Amino acid sequence: MSNTELQQLSAGRLAALCRAGEVKPSEAVGSALDAIETRDRLVGAFLSVFHDEALARARALDDEKPAERPLFGVPVALKDNICTRGQPTTCASRILGGYRPPYDATVVRRLRAAGAVIVGKTNMDEFAMGSSTEHSAFQRTVNPWDAECVPGGSSGGSAAAVAAGMVPLALGSDTGGSIRQPAAFCGVVGLKGTWGRVSRHGLVAFASSFDQIGPLATDVADCAAALSVIAGRDGIDSMALDGPCPDMRMPPAEGLKGLRIAVPRASEGWAPDPAVSGAIDEALRLAGRAGGVLVPAELPALELSIACYYVIAAAEASSNLARFDGVRYGLRVPAESLAAMYSRTRNRGFGAEVKRRILLGTYVLSAGYYDQYYAVARAVREMIRARFAELFADCDLLLLPTAPGPAFRLGEKLDDPVSMYLSDIFTTPASVAGLPAVSIPAGLSESGLPVAVQLVAAHGREDLLVRGAAALEDGFAFRSRCVPRPAAGEGRGA
Ligand code: GLN
Repeated sequence: MSNTELQQLSAGRLAALCRAGEVKPSEAVGSALDAIETRDRLVGAFLSVFHDEALARARALDDEKPAERPLFGVPVALKDNICTRGQPTTCASRILGGYRPPYDATVVRRLRAAGAVIVGKTNMDEFAMGSSTEHSAFQRTVNPWDAECVPGGSSGGSAAAVAAGMVPLALGSDTGGSIRQPAAFCGVVGLKGTWGRVSRHGLVAFASSFDQIGPLATDVADCAAALSVIAGRDGIDSMALDGPCPDMRMPPAEGLKGLRIAVPRASEGWAPDPAVSGAIDEALRLAGRAGGVLVPAELPALELSIACYYVIAAAEASSNLARFDGVRYGLRVPAESLAAMYSRTRNRGFGAEVKRRILLGTYVLSAGYYDQYYAVARAVREMIRARFAELFADCDLLLLPTAPGPAFRLGEKLDDPVSMYLSDIFTTPASVAGLPAVSIPAGLSESGLPVAVQLVAAHGREDLLVRGAAALEDGFAFRSRCVPRPAAGEGRGA
């Protein structure tokens, strides 16, 4: 099989061919490394590429028995906030420049055990704070569909790497939408499990009560398979869910028969771009055709979720990022006293957005303001959780846009943090409530950029989520219908 053919394959198909002995893992990984070499100059998705190590691992797999390994021979990219032993893990921050963790994240160990080969680490907003990947301290990543637009964020490098056909599968992390929103902007599928579904051990913490690692891939089946591989209890993350992960294999012909799908009524905060509204209308038509029952619903607290998220996430970030002080990890700027060393290191090491979050978080936690902001946000969070529980007592899935519009232009929102934050209006509700959610590419806007819809399910119901997503994916037929314009280079279109 030629490199170009290999680069078009989904992770599931590639693993099946490797298991059957028709493609060697070293060929699969070699073709990904080739694609990175030729395409990443334009896209800028990778911060580091483990060329030799990946090839060596893949060659070792060539001689192994694949057994049942679901990702046998599959090249995978990881967001650069996931620890890889002895390999750079920078969170796209100067403060972690040169840091090489002494251990692998749990997800990395699980991917390898499933036969995957890690080919490199992807660009992101610094410490995962952002929605465009422009807050990276190191480089710009562009959207493979239009090099003048952002890939979304904060897992923009992972989304762009999959969209540009450099790898069939990547991991990202989602705190307030960072898997789903870049997936939407880049025309790929992005899945976040229930909070606790995937161990956070080895994920550099941003806001621990929201953080979840999850997959980005070209189809729902790949995301479901990858989530099954990385999910499950882990003695090192006490919040990782104990119970077994629900079976996410897709029952082929079942569609949405009998599933009740909540469709929020339009409200004030509900003003997506016409292309996104069009995608929602199409999703409703497809859901009805696939046997789903559409139920008009009140959307649980759209505007409240985003405010609540930005208070609590900043508070947790200010605490989590206190450890980066020049003593133990990464950058140290020497100074005459310990206090001056802390301050200079943090001043030089963190970018503007990270500093903004630390300041906001410290403010909402400070004596006198704690009750007014942090405590109120915690109470609102409980209320949002309760509203979702009511909604899901009567429905199986909730349909929403993923983002208010298609990818915006590079630089467009950089000077206006609030408009950047509002990119997350549709993704933060599931984050605040800890619910599983998935973004499915639906079609193209007038300017040829992908738009997507999002499904949210009840706590622990990734099985229903995947079933719904597969039915919509089938109906949208995005991969076969939508091809990047020639200017976008060799994208992952059919
Ligand atoms: N864009 C959101 C933020 O800046 C979400 C980030 C994320 O999910 N990591 O906080």
